[in-house]
Amino acid sequence: MIAPGEVWLVGAGPGDPDLLTRKAERLIRAASVVFYDALVGPDVLALARAETRLVSVGKRVGRHSKDQRTICALIIEAALAGERVVRLKGGDPSVFGRSMEELDACRAAGIPVRICPGITAAIAAAASLGTSLTLRGTARQVTFVTAHVRKGEKLDLDWASLAAAQTTLAVYMGKGAAPEVATQLLAHGLPGDTPVACIESASLPEERQFCTRLDLLPMAARLAMGDGPVILLIGAVAAGPARRGSVFSQPAPRLRPASQRSSPA
Ligand code: SAH
Repeated sequence: MIAPGEVWLVGAGPGDPDLLTRKAERLIRAASVVFYDALVGPDVLALARAETRLVSVGKRVGRHSKDQRTICALIIEAALAGERVVRLKGGDPSVFGRSMEELDACRAAGIPVRICPGITAAIAAAASLGTSLTLRGTARQVTFVTAHVRKGEKLDLDWASLAAAQTTLAVYMGKGAAPEVATQLLAHGLPGDTPVACIESASLPEERQFCTRLDLLPMAARLAMGDGPVILLIGAVAAGPARRGSVFSQPAPRLRPASQRSSPA
C-alpha cells in the first residue's frame, strides 16, 4: 500500500491505538521506516513490524530534538533510498503539525506524498469529557488555536475574536500560557464563570481532566497539570457534567408536529 520511495503523513490520533483509522494501521504495518513525534503513543508504535525502523524526531516544548529542516531532510533521504516512509504525527497531521513544510519539501524533491487523517486532540478531549464541541444555539462555532510561543516572544493572538460569544475554544499547547489566555479572554469580555476543561493525555490510561472557570484557570493550571500534553476547552460545552446536566434538566420543550418543525441547522 506504500510504494517504495513514497511518503505518507499519517495521523496517529491522541494516543489510544483503538482511535487510529484502519488505514493508518495498515500504513504503519506497511512502512519500512517510521519517523514519529514525541506525542505518538507507544502502543501505536508497537503496531509496526519488528523489522521496521522507528526513528524518533520528537519535539516537545523546550526540547527540540530535531529541527524541522532536519526532519524534512531525513524523510526525503529515506524516500530517495527507496524506503516506504511513514511520517507519524500525533492527532491529525493538518492541525498544528507542521505538515505543510514536509509536504512542500517532498513535492519539491519530486517525491509522492499523501496524507492519512487522524483524530485531533480537541475531538478526543470532547469525547473523553462526554460533551459535544458544538451546542445547538449555544456554541455555534469551534476555534482551534495554539497558545505556543517561541521563547522570548509575546502571545500575539486576536483576542477580541477569540472572546466571541457562542464559541468553543480549543487551545492547543496552552499549558504554560493558560494564565495569560485567561487574563486576555477576561479582558476582552468573556465572563469569569465561563467553563474551562483541561484535559491531559486524552484517551491514554494516564488521562486526567478537571473542570474549572476562566477566572480560576491561572491557579488551577498551576496546581493541577502534570507532564502530559494538555488541551483546554473553553466555553459552555466545557462545563462539568453536573452543570451541563442543568442545561438539559429544564422542562423539555413541547414538540411541534414534524410537519411544522424546521430542519436542524
Ligand atoms: N496534531 C496534533 C496537535 C499537535 S500540537 C493534533 O491534531 O492533536 C501538540 C498539542 O496537542 C499539545 O500541546 C496538546 O495541546 C495537544 N494534544 C495532543 N495530544 C493530546 C492528548 N492526548 N491529550 C491532550 N492534548 C493533546
